[in-house]
Amino acid sequence: MKAGLRTKLTFSYALVALMLIAVISICVNALFNIQFKNYVMNQQKQANQNIINLVEKQYDAKTQTWNISAVENIGMSALEQGMIVKVKDYSGGTVWDATVHNNGLCAQMLRQMAQNMKSQYPNFKGGYVQKSYTLMVGFKQIGEAEIGYYGPFYFTNSDISFLQKINMILALTGLVSLIMAILLGTYMSLRISRPVSKAVRAASEISKGNYEQRIDEKSNTREINDLTDSVNTLAQTLEKQENLRKQMASDVAHELRTPLANLQSSLEAMIDGVWEPNSERLTSCHEEILRINRMVGDLEKLERAEAETEALSLSDFDLSELVRHIIHSFETDYYKKGISLDFYGETAPVRADRDKISQVLVNLLSNALKYTPEGGSVRAQVKNLRTVAEITVADTGQGIPPEDLPNIFERFYRADKSRNRLTGGSGLGLTIAKATIEAHKGRISVSSELNKGTVFSVFLPKKHGQA
Ligand code: ADP
Repeated sequence: MKAGLRTKLTFSYALVALMLIAVISICVNALFNIQFKNYVMNQQKQANQNIINLVEKQYDAKTQTWNISAVENIGMSALEQGMIVKVKDYSGGTVWDATVHNNGLCAQMLRQMAQNMKSQYPNFKGGYVQKSYTLMVGFKQIGEAEIGYYGPFYFTNSDISFLQKINMILALTGLVSLIMAILLGTYMSLRISRPVSKAVRAASEISKGNYEQRIDEKSNTREINDLTDSVNTLAQTLEKQENLRKQMASDVAHELRTPLANLQSSLEAMIDGVWEPNSERLTSCHEEILRINRMVGDLEKLERAEAETEALSLSDFDLSELVRHIIHSFETDYYKKGISLDFYGETAPVRADRDKISQVLVNLLSNALKYTPEGGSVRAQVKNLRTVAEITVADTGQGIPPEDLPNIFERFYRADKSRNRLTGGSGLGLTIAKATIEAHKGRISVSSELNKGTVFSVFLPKKHGQA
């Protein structure tokens, strides 16, 4: 079984805390071993020297005698500190000997020291060490002294308890750090794992088709925020696409239902002999079929424009020249309807799909023709701007109501439904135009004033290398 994020993170925190404490303990103990040993050994040397100095002072040079009781005091106090002192005169005779004075106490002292050292260092190789010193008064040798102790060094009871306290503090610190690490690990892992678990749950719901899933959890970890944002964006995009798909299916069904119902009832009336199948009625049926056909063709175009962004067949051409050419093909229709058509254009080199841009222009110019009453005027313009080429088609037509303006690029949207159905518009022309321009990484926009006119602007990125 795989461990969860929470377990792993808590475990890692605890492990780091334990490792830190272990490293600190090892370092502190190693430091003590070196520093404390040196200190203790120096102290020993110093203590030996002090004893020798004190003993030398107990010799009376004039009478050439020792103050034995004073030497005994010195020896006894040394014994209490773990040192066994023997003093001999210059002829080798014993002045004072701790082992003679109290051998039991000496043996007990040595046992105690060995025990202390073994408790601290089980592998300690120590033993009884004896150092000899020559006792002098001025330049005259007055005797010899031997100082024995447990060596090479030993720890007194207070040294041992000091070391034990240090280790106890370390162990306590370790325990507290471990508890804190576990608490912190649990807290941190909860903060990380909660949004991650939510993202996992949301992703699994999304995979089942529940696109309305969103993660509202905000984290102060950048990567986690990126993850939840990505899942939310994914859900949003899928939801939008799903809605579009449903909308598209219902729009298409809705758009086809009326002409198909008209056709069906007309043909049934003729089959049943209610209507005589004269040429006028057949022509009307034929027109309905043409309309359906046009709509299906437009849907195909839209599907291509929306899906095949990279299937553009790009070429370099002058946008003004293209617009002038299309205007030319519209002149007769405009003339017949009594609408003036002007063109003003600067040379504007672009790299684009010439046929598809032509379709957009045809659509804009035929809309302007359709929605501008007799006596009106339409002006097309091409401007060569710094990074884009701009085409505008401005008419003095009926305009678009402000409430319809945001929707006119949506599929099957018609501002004036009843009138537009009669003009034969499918409501797809501007949708195709927008998809085509966006496939070129361009932009299309509209501004309109009711009963005054409408202006469509198309911005196309210019050919590479052109300023
Ligand atoms: P249609 O085939 O119906 O013209 P479009 O997608 O080309 O479909 O246009 C959508 C709607 O936008 C039209 O039905 C019309 O209501 C409105 N429209 C487009 N161009 C103009 C214009 N130049 N003046 C007024 N309304 C317009």
